[in-house]
Amino acid sequence: MAYKATIEEENKEIASRYKNLLKGTYQQLSKEDIVLIRNAFELAVEAHSQQRRKTGEPYIYHPIAVAKIVADEIGLGAVSIASALLHDVVEDTPTTIEEIEKQFGKTVAKIVNGLTKISHLKKEHNASIQAENFRKMLLTLHDDVRVIIIKIADRLHNMQTMDAMRPEKQAEKASETLYIYAPLAHRLGLYNIKTELEDLGLKYTEPDIYNAILNKITESKEEQEAYIKDFSNIIKESLDTEPFDYEIKGRSKSIYSIRKKMLKQDVTFYEVYDKFAIRIIYDIKGDDEKEEKFNAWKIYSIVTDHFQPNPLRLRDWITNPKSTGYEALHITVMGPKGKWVEVQIRSTRMNEIAEKGYAAHYKYKHQNEKETGLDDWLNKLKETLENQEINAVDFVENFKLSLYSKEIFVFTPNGELKPLPKGATALDFAFSIHTEVGMTCRGAKVNGKLKPLSHVLNSGDQVEIITSKNQKPTIGWLDFAVTARARTKIKAALKENEKIIAAEGKELLIRKLRHLKLTLNEKTVNELVNHFQLKTSFDLFYRFGTGAIENNQLKDFASTQSNSFFNFFKSKVKKVPLPNIHKEILTDKYDLLVFGKEEERLDYTHSICCNPIPGDKVFGFITINDGIKIHKKDCPNAVSLRAKFAYRIIKAKWIDSSKQEFKAIISLSGVDHVGIVNELTKIISDTLHVNIHNLNIASNDGIFQGKITVSVKNKTQLKTLTESLKKIEGIEKVTRSYKN
Ligand code: MN
Repeated sequence: MAYKATIEEENKEIASRYKNLLKGTYQQLSKEDIVLIRNAFELAVEAHSQQRRKTGEPYIYHPIAVAKIVADEIGLGAVSIASALLHDVVEDTPTTIEEIEKQFGKTVAKIVNGLTKISHLKKEHNASIQAENFRKMLLTLHDDVRVIIIKIADRLHNMQTMDAMRPEKQAEKASETLYIYAPLAHRLGLYNIKTELEDLGLKYTEPDIYNAILNKITESKEEQEAYIKDFSNIIKESLDTEPFDYEIKGRSKSIYSIRKKMLKQDVTFYEVYDKFAIRIIYDIKGDDEKEEKFNAWKIYSIVTDHFQPNPLRLRDWITNPKSTGYEALHITVMGPKGKWVEVQIRSTRMNEIAEKGYAAHYKYKHQNEKETGLDDWLNKLKETLENQEINAVDFVENFKLSLYSKEIFVFTPNGELKPLPKGATALDFAFSIHTEVGMTCRGAKVNGKLKPLSHVLNSGDQVEIITSKNQKPTIGWLDFAVTARARTKIKAALKENEKIIAAEGKELLIRKLRHLKLTLNEKTVNELVNHFQLKTSFDLFYRFGTGAIENNQLKDFASTQSNSFFNFFKSKVKKVPLPNIHKEILTDKYDLLVFGKEEERLDYTHSICCNPIPGDKVFGFITINDGIKIHKKDCPNAVSLRAKFAYRIIKAKWIDSSKQEFKAIISLSGVDHVGIVNELTKIISDTLHVNIHNLNIASNDGIFQGKITVSVKNKTQLKTLTESLKKIEGIEKVTRSYKN
């Protein structure tokens, strides 16, 4: 239906929508507040007067609707309402940010500026640029978290009014919404908005599925209402004798979450058993926290008097609120007709926090002055964002995980409770205690038993971290550090260490070049970088620092330098640039694939179906005739291979061979004598500081044969090691072995 209205009708409609905006605010507005909002409204009407929405309607309907979401559903105050009204003014009209500041003050200007910056970020299909854009968007959290909240409201209204858009545009907006906006809304405790964003996201990405589920929900509505009535009737009598008022409501699961359940458990709509929950919301008088908690348990007691609870499904989010700020008591009971049903018990205050999230959370904050989970999260996020060194793709991935992740609670030795994301390891715990504890941790005692740092923690574990002054973060830690905090700190420490090695490498290079009658200047550095196919001078110095580039390789370079004839031809040959695998971190170079827990180098071929390239997440598949083939983790064949032939899957990962230690097997043989093993291990670990993983020596009639598995940084170190071993009395042969 085409849009049609006269100017008078439109003006009337604008005025009525504005009135309606002022009516439904969650926070009480003062006279000054109303003046501020009025002025913002007038400026927005004026500035957008020439613009129309895709539907043909006046553009101002959009900012009014966004302001309404901000005022009513999210419950923010006048500054946010005014900023929401102005959110597209600088972006779309000639009005400048300076004018906004002059008329509305610094705070409004700052928020509007943040929102303008976000809409300037270009839509990109390149994952790393897109990730960088999201990071920039989150950086506005530095200025004011209200920027993100208004942005979420803006996105919600755009999703609600997307029908006039082209289908490709719809799908694109919808996926972006599911990717970042819904998780953000969740993390800020805006549960209702998150649910709506997810449902709309599904509606435009998978319309058929969305409609099918929606129809089935509508069909079962009556039955559901009857069930809730049955349930209420049974507990009503007992609840009515209590001194507080209460309300019993049914709440359907969202379309999106039913869809998720169906996929995850591979079941039909009818087999998803908890399609709705029952909510009991009770009033409290005044601010009495104790009374509030006590009443929740009283209701629990009444409910379980009538219905058998499932002891495994009791969640007390009142004593330990979720870090999103959510509080409630959840139980699952065997309800009427022998059906399991979840019962959520909340006070009116808890209910407001559950529905409005952020604003309600701060409205009630005075009751409980200690740092809340939400503050804690915002602070940690700021800290992570401030670290410029981390790669944007990594950041957004981690960040997204941190938005949705379930939480576990672990205890410190003093019995203090620490929340961590599900899947967190002892190492994450160490970093959550203190950066210094993380940096120097060696192992952990979990419930009194010694465990490695990679040990995955469970709720209720008591964890004690063992530290050592000499310990330093290694690149291997990144394999099992889960929290953004730990990963950021580890990466920063590794970078710091690389800088030291590179500085040493530079000194070393200067000395070696002098030997070869060359000097280190910009020209030589550039030529060296090209010669060794590196990207930066830093990479070059670093590789000299670790010994990854050997003396004879440098000599090769020197000889090309003195050979002008060769250089003449070389200058004629066009250089083929190396593929750029990871632009974000210039020094990230994946040149070696290792397999299994022991990180062995094995022969392999690439599979044709997904063609993995260095740096991809991959796994190895042992074929019957063709040895090991590597597939990408997200290869379309991966799921069925993993399901059918789990025993033929071998772990694989790409590493930078110059940064990572690798395992090498050394075979040796010779004449046996007393103490030879002692001598061997002494040389390897004490003198050369190389780690031994495996030592296997067999002696037969005075002749011994052995295999030692060691971790070395590079070939130079391995060579030094084999040379030293050869010098031991009785040893005759030392070779590197490639087979176990
Ligand atoms: Mn907008």
